[in-house]
Amino acid sequence: MRPRFDNPEEDTKKRCPRCRKIMAKTWANELCPACTDEDLYKKVKEYITNNDVTATEVAMEFDIPLQKVNAWIKEGFIEYRKNNYF
Ligand SMILES: [Zn+2]
Repeated sequence: MRPRFDNPEEDTKKRCPRCRKIMAKTWANELCPACTDEDLYKKVKEYITNNDVTATEVAMEFDIPLQKVNAWIKEGFIEYRKNNYF
């Protein structure tokens, strides 16, 4: 017999409070990876807007892989100031 829970939706599934997507139980953050990324990239975007920094500095400041920062730039999520060269 299957164990009963007060809220069947809560039983084995952990959901992201923002997008309601089911997350891995091992995922430690409150938000799912996609929402965590979204938050992070918003912070990064703001940081870049307010500071004259390179992709490497962004990666170090937010403790994220440089590859990820570069991927965001490539995908157009982040736009650096025109006078920034890497
Ligand atoms: Zn989410």
